[in-house]
Amino acid sequence: MQLYSTKNASAFVSLKEAVLKGLPDDNGLFMPSKISQLDKDFIQNIEQYSFQDIAFEVSKTLLNDAIPENDLKEIILNAINFPAPVVKLDDSISILELFHGPSLAFKDFGARFMAQLMSYFNRDESKELVILVATSGDTGGAVAAGFHKTPGIKVVILYPSGKVSHLQEKQLTTLGHNITALEIDGTFDDCQALVKKAFLDKELTSQIRLSSANSINIARLIPQSFYYFEAYKQVKHLDKSIVFCVPSGNFGNLTAGVLAQKMGLPIHQFIAATNTNDVVPEYLASGTYNPKPSVRTISNAMDVGNPSNFARMIDIYSEIKGIPNQNGSTWNNMKEAIIGYGINDSATKEGIKEVFDTYKYIIDPHGSVGYLALKEYQKTNPNTHGVVLETAHPSKFIDDVEAILSQKVDIPERLASLADKKKEAHFMTKDYNPFKEWLQNNF
Ligand SMILES: *Cc1c(COP(=O)(O)O)cnc(C)c1O
Repeated sequence: MQLYSTKNASAFVSLKEAVLKGLPDDNGLFMPSKISQLDKDFIQNIEQYSFQDIAFEVSKTLLNDAIPENDLKEIILNAINFPAPVVKLDDSISILELFHGPSLAFKDFGARFMAQLMSYFNRDESKELVILVATSGDTGGAVAAGFHKTPGIKVVILYPSGKVSHLQEKQLTTLGHNITALEIDGTFDDCQALVKKAFLDKELTSQIRLSSANSINIARLIPQSFYYFEAYKQVKHLDKSIVFCVPSGNFGNLTAGVLAQKMGLPIHQFIAATNTNDVVPEYLASGTYNPKPSVRTISNAMDVGNPSNFARMIDIYSEIKGIPNQNGSTWNNMKEAIIGYGINDSATKEGIKEVFDTYKYIIDPHGSVGYLALKEYQKTNPNTHGVVLETAHPSKFIDDVEAILSQKVDIPERLASLADKKKEAHFMTKDYNPFKEWLQNNF
């Protein structure tokens, strides 16, 4: 497997380099140079395969010969160890539950697979790899759980003191082993500045092998394509045109769906569902891409004003790779495949109520955005079956959901049990030198 940068399609790197580096030097994003088709028989007989079988077939096809089959099998068994069930609401709508992992959000798939790949590619190095992550809450939890006890890798998570929720803090500070939390007396931006400075510090990087668990690492995108196949397997018997509705922020999830489609999965249409941060739906409607500062909503994991994976979407729908072009045929190709809707907060709240009243199903605010976008689409496309990606468990947004429904929301045991675990974090100022010294002393 070879990968190029969305800013230069004529220089290639190996999967190992792309995974360990995260980003190309030119600040583009890595893309696979070839997206191979899956065997038609495999898709026709997909019911016969387990989720892990599917993940193995898809990754084997996409990764080509980058990892020997036996090693890849082991990586998949370790990474994909929780299910992605589809719950059918009625003949036209299903929910794909992506929250059965340790941090209760779909980001667990990406984080676990990335941890496995990094550990695999690092196995011959004598020095451990130290991953630095700044988090405002959610991503850190998925990364911490994903890398927990991964051989050869240590993780240092920086979070802003007092600015993450109680349970989020527990997700970052109670795992132990190879995960260490630094509680920074500052904001998320201060945490991010510390991490950035460390990566640019030549003295430090000559002493410690540093890496990032960046959300745009290709290793996080690849496993997100697996569950589109797994969902298709569960709705195939309905014999309808399948549309996927993807609640989106940075558009990694949707981009992974497009990869699945390019590999041969028969997806009729994608729906890009956003909250009022709707630069992509606007682009799809008008042909003009106009990034803006994000605004706060109740589906806050999608509060993104300039989605980082937009460059990958442009690249996929461009006829010429490696030369970003948002116009003409690129726009036409993209709007054929994807239709966008922006949903505001008051509608989102109504959606949560409607799903509960109609189906007795508790959906989270992100899923509600997806549900409403799908309903809009199906007004003019009634003979489709829509699969809404439920990206997080409703208990992650328990205050909003309980207030909207006047109804208790159960917290799954794996989250609830964190409340009694002891927090362990090193408190630090936002100054760089003590942070650097701490790293030098500990690794
Ligand atoms: C990250 C996240 C999203 C957005 O996913 P993207 O891949 O960035 O589009 C949606 N919902 C939840 C709950 C998330 O955590």
